[in-house]
Amino acid sequence: MKKFTRQELKNHNKRLILQTIYQSSRSSRAEVARQTGLTRTTVSDLVAELIKEHLVVEQGYGPSAGGTPPMMIEVMDSARQMIGIDLANDEFRGGLLDMRGHVSELTKLPLKNRRGEEAIQLMYDLIDRLLKKADSPILGIGIGSPGVLDARNGIVRIAVNLGWVNLPLSDRLRERYQQPVYVANDSHIAAFGEFTFGSKPPGRNLAVLKVGRGISAGIVINGRIYYGDTFGAGEIGHVVVDRGGKLCSCGKRGCLETVASTRAIVSLCQQIIQEQPELFPNSVLSNPENMETSDVLEAFEMGNAAVAEIIRNAGSYLGYALSFLIATLNIVDIRIAGSLARFGDPLLDTIRETVHECTLSTLVRDTHIELASLGQNIVLQGAGAIVLSNELKLV
Ligand SMILES: [Zn+2]
Repeated sequence: MKKFTRQELKNHNKRLILQTIYQSSRSSRAEVARQTGLTRTTVSDLVAELIKEHLVVEQGYGPSAGGTPPMMIEVMDSARQMIGIDLANDEFRGGLLDMRGHVSELTKLPLKNRRGEEAIQLMYDLIDRLLKKADSPILGIGIGSPGVLDARNGIVRIAVNLGWVNLPLSDRLRERYQQPVYVANDSHIAAFGEFTFGSKPPGRNLAVLKVGRGISAGIVINGRIYYGDTFGAGEIGHVVVDRGGKLCSCGKRGCLETVASTRAIVSLCQQIIQEQPELFPNSVLSNPENMETSDVLEAFEMGNAAVAEIIRNAGSYLGYALSFLIATLNIVDIRIAGSLARFGDPLLDTIRETVHECTLSTLVRDTHIELASLGQNIVLQGAGAIVLSNELKLV
């Protein structure tokens, strides 16, 4: 075993102490010593350093256990900030995050079909704006990008919509900002965000199915993102579920994305608008080619039966694809995220029904399929979580 130098040992202990305080929300030096097995002197010395670095603050006296009441300490959530970026939609979204994943300075810049170098410039613009607004030291930059990403080397292998091929994204950003940079696929990052900052804490494993313009799943196993051997874990959007069906952007026919993505759903609604115009809001009728998911949602909420059928059908395909994931991994905690999650319980019910029909009952009994607790910021919160995890080992 490698022998620690005195400095390494100190850093290790300090990180352990910070972690312990972070996870218990509020603690005392004596409690931290008990939990970490370190001596009280070591804990006191290192807590003093953490206080000097503004990472930990004293918060008044706690209840006495007989003797002098203990001084309570906690991590100062705003002591450091992370920049979280989501590149997976028609607009680039970014925000500053505190150490509990709260988002401030949410900023959105529409992509307007920018590709290649232009899309990179837009991302720079977004990060520049956020850096200017930061009011605490920055821990690093986290990016969730669509496409296949080599997260270990920070390279976008391919992101079709952005026109990026073998782009060394981390190197480019590190050179420009001199900050630690972490990049990963948006679904992988979303799963880690939900795992870390979601309001319903899961066990050690979690799968998040993200359904928007694209469809893919992010998988967390033992508290870590499972990327797969070639970083393609969870790419179920291009599994063929409707053989010989519609042509997909990937060149195959009948992929899950051709029947259950928001793009597919909008396109089906554009077809029925001709036959049943009375079912859609006026804003859409005048300009059906600009129909968006929110218009479909409006029609759906007004009780449009034809739209309800389209959503049921999409949910059924999603449930079918999910059943393979559930049977393969036996992860019992499944969350649905992305813009389709806005269709809520009716969508969820269809997904659950189909999973019941298609999966071994014993497996289904223990499986919980819910909507993700983080909303539209799930990817940028996940991007912050990945920075926090790598830089401070707090999550
Ligand atoms: Zn496809």
